[in-house]
Amino acid sequence: MFPSDFEYAAPTTIQEALDLLSQNPEAKVLAGGHSLLPAMKLRLTSPALLVDISKIPELKGIHANGSVTIGAFTTYNELENSQELAQRVPMLVECAKNIGDPQVRNRGTIGGALAHSDPAADMTAVVLALGADIKAVGPNGERTIAVDNFFVDMLQSALEEGELLTEITVPQMSGKVGMAYEKFKHPASGYAIVGVAALVQLDDSGTIAACRIAVTGAGPKAQRATAAENLLLNQQSSPDGIASAAAQASSGLDFIGDISASEEYRAHLTQVLAKRALTKALERAQ
Ligand SMILES: Cc1cc2nc3c(=O)[nH]c(=O)nc-3n(C[C@H](O)[C@H](O)[C@H](O)COP(=O)(O)OP(=O)(O)OC[C@H]3O[C@@H](n4cnc5c(N)ncnc54)[C@H](O)[C@@H]3O)c2cc1C
Repeated sequence: MFPSDFEYAAPTTIQEALDLLSQNPEAKVLAGGHSLLPAMKLRLTSPALLVDISKIPELKGIHANGSVTIGAFTTYNELENSQELAQRVPMLVECAKNIGDPQVRNRGTIGGALAHSDPAADMTAVVLALGADIKAVGPNGERTIAVDNFFVDMLQSALEEGELLTEITVPQMSGKVGMAYEKFKHPASGYAIVGVAALVQLDDSGTIAACRIAVTGAGPKAQRATAAENLLLNQQSSPDGIASAAAQASSGLDFIGDISASEEYRAHLTQVLAKRALTKALERAQ
């Protein structure tokens, strides 16, 4: 299938890209193209202009200086091969390795995944569990969006018309921190039927001082499993505590049922994967 006709521009600075977007309301940003191009071929979207951001150096790379900042146009392949991330934010590496196939990982970008906000995207849950900040620039200047406010609905993020997602910043983490991402893949597409990302931080006495659990694939958008988080906070880590928290991981979440899995099955998977992710994260923290 072929998309409708479109114009193409490849700016080399963020400002040029913003100018193109503001002058052309029918334009869309093109990053890795692995979600946008299939949608165009299916005529689900027909932008008049594609603004390819792959030639903008400011949008690329991983910079660590206490916190870790990742340019929006950083590919999954770059994430999975980053030594810096392997040491500081290993869940990003673990997640990137499990996305699609090598072709998808060579082209797909972290910024594209967040902007697209596919309900089954892996990176959405991981970035949500990490408590990252997302930077956007647009006609009204620059702003930082806390990831807790970023995922609005199915395929809808907090980005506004003409805004470009430029970078993602993972806050500095100190002390005993562990993180893990567990995914139950659709056997054909490899997308998450459900994926759970968990981050835990222990204090010196082994008490869980911080905990974030995020779920993808289950509902219309990435969601935090706050009922499970609250059961773990300020508790000593123990297998029984993990089991009780995981049993509450689907409480309060929205679930969708479709041809691949019912709502009930997704709720069950959420609990199973939460237990696995929390167990791994706590082992790693210790
Ligand atoms: C065969 C196949 C298998 C896949 N498997 C998986 C999988 O297992 N797990 C998974 O999570 N994903 C999977 N994907 C999706 C893949 O991860 C996409 O690459 C990703 O969802 C979108 O990233 P992209 O860089 O390709 O964005 P694009 O497709 O270029 O863009 C997606 C959307 O985001 C917008 N956009 C992109 N970048 C920006 C930006 N910086 N600022 C503002 N808007 C922006 C675009 O305008 C567009 O609307 C798969 C895709 C394919 C084709």
